Amino acid sequence: MARKFFVGGNFKMNGSAKSITDIVDNLNNAKLDPNTEVVIAPPALYLSLTREKLRKGLEVAAQNVFDKPNGAFTGEISVEQLKDAGITWAILGHSERRVILQEDDQFVANKTKTAIDGGLGVILCCGESLEQREAGKTIEVVTSQLKAVADKVKDWSKIVVAYEPIWAIGTGKVATTEQAQEVHAAIRDWIKNEVSTEAAEKTRILYGGSVSEKNCVELAKQADIDGFLVGGASLKPAFVDIINAKQ
Ligand code: PGA
Repeated sequence: MARKFFVGGNFKMNGSAKSITDIVDNLNNAKLDPNTEVVIAPPALYLSLTREKLRKGLEVAAQNVFDKPNGAFTGEISVEQLKDAGITWAILGHSERRVILQEDDQFVANKTKTAIDGGLGVILCCGESLEQREAGKTIEVVTSQLKAVADKVKDWSKIVVAYEPIWAIGTGKVATTEQAQEVHAAIRDWIKNEVSTEAAEKTRILYGGSVSEKNCVELAKQADIDGFLVGGASLKPAFVDIINAKQ
């Protein structure tokens, strides 16, 4: 079964109204592969601006969402508020939030459940540190991060998994095609055993970590790599080449 190629742009805490407008204009005017689903994630402050300016057919993601409905939660944003602004996706479990903001597997799972129940799509990130990889624990770490979600969320039709080895994020040190494919295949196998055969066939598994216009074509050829979550390169015009990696 063909899985639609998916490319997400994670702007992280970068950009201004001016630079994000320029990125959006570039995407609006570019020739993008119609067989690729494109979702960009600007900082929360610029979500509405992005949604208003971005052409139809391209979607916008939040970089986070809270696990509770509207209420007394200073600094947080709810699923309801995202939907009100036309935002259809959320990135959850990114390693920068797991490590710097100390989000644990349970919190990520609770947020994923709230987002999915509320009708958002979720780009669910997982990935190991260099220390964990060197200790041979990559698959164990990644699957335990996913298990916390599988325990709470049974319907994976709106989940896209992003495998992002921490040692490859923002370092210029991309995983080899073999390293990425090996983990992606293991994740798909795990989904088959722990969620369902159907979910294993349909779930897009993205690779993230120093993806560039130079390495994306080879990575995209791997059987279990269904797209990318792109950080630094999503802020540059070359993001278009990554979206078109399959062409
Ligand atoms: P990078 O970030 O492409 O800058 O390595 C990827 C990510 O963290 O999503």
